[in-house]
Amino acid sequence: MTVTSLGLPVVRRAAPSTVHRPEVPQLVDTFGRVARDLRISLTEKCSLRCTYCMPEEGLPAIARIDLLTPDEVARLVGVAATALGIREVRFTGGEPLMRPDLARIVRLSSETAPGVIMSMTTNALGLHHRAASLVEAGLQRVNISLDTVDPAQFARLTRRDRLHDTLIGIRAAKQAGLDPIKVNAVLMRATLGGAADLLAWGLSEGVAVRFIEEMPLDADETWRRDNMVDAAELLQVLSTRFELTPIGRNDPSAPAEDWLVDGGPHTVGIIASVTRPFCQRCDRTRITAQGTVRSCLFGDDETDLRAALRGGASDGEIADMWRAAMWGKQAGHGIDSADFARPVRSMGSIGG
Ligand code: SAM
Ligand code: SF4
Repeated sequence: MTVTSLGLPVVRRAAPSTVHRPEVPQLVDTFGRVARDLRISLTEKCSLRCTYCMPEEGLPAIARIDLLTPDEVARLVGVAATALGIREVRFTGGEPLMRPDLARIVRLSSETAPGVIMSMTTNALGLHHRAASLVEAGLQRVNISLDTVDPAQFARLTRRDRLHDTLIGIRAAKQAGLDPIKVNAVLMRATLGGAADLLAWGLSEGVAVRFIEEMPLDADETWRRDNMVDAAELLQVLSTRFELTPIGRNDPSAPAEDWLVDGGPHTVGIIASVTRPFCQRCDRTRITAQGTVRSCLFGDDETDLRAALRGGASDGEIADMWRAAMWGKQAGHGIDSADFARPVRSMGSIGG
């Protein structure tokens, strides 16, 4: 393991082994999975400090020179789409809206990867100013993080009193035509009592709410397996107010399992990442804001594509490095195994 000059620890494997890798263009791994969903982190910066993600002071700043530029992001998206079979690109962070050049990134990426879905995961702060221009640049979908509709709970959980900004961001996303809009809530003991109110709000606003089990990726390292709120506990809480009927997964690679609410047509999703992991069906590949490929949230091995880009590598060479990195993807997160070790980076530094 090395520690970069940015203060962000990065583990690098110089040349991942490709022994027995079949000669196929896609991002396959030794467990037979194919990655088709690319997450690209654009920054470590954020306008919130959610306790399950960021430290109070924020993550160590990445120097501008070390961040992927809009042209570099678009080049990687182009390689992913044309050479590697990626079908959806999701911009994330940190908070992607902290990048003033976000619309340019989206525009260049959608130009280089026509037909690939462009989406973003965001806390929606400031989205009301930018939703229309992002749609015009090619953005199609958003996942918006919102854990509670109680202003005091929101302020405690995110360490910022900005519920109103997220709510107007969600309305602006709807008005701009982003579709679908999914609202993601991380399950925390502090907000569990408000989970039914959040779902009721989602039903009234016409946005799909999905609850996510908290993973041991918080920078403060306070996550405990024996104290986390799991899907079973959430279902009990929601069932006191709603009639829930399980309907399974929307598609086999979808992380969320869905329930019909009060007989439908609305649904609620639960992503039980810890208690019912979907690692066996995982179809994701990730690029960090510094341009390294990460095959798994929980795998610290990273391959430096930024250095290759800046060193003059061809698209074919970049694609080969990416394939080799994904071939080595680990079986799963292993949270329940006795030798589980947290990854070096936290969620906000990887890109969730
Ligand atoms: N700032 C944007 C946002 O909050 O949507 C994008 C980045 S954030 C790291 C991406 C997603 O990761 C969010 O939905 C957030 O709730 C989720 N997340 C962060 N820390 C998590 C944790 N420890 N366990 C589960 N999900 C987490
Ligand atoms: Fe920021 Fe998103 Fe992490 Fe919250 S979850 S601190 S909004 S990066």
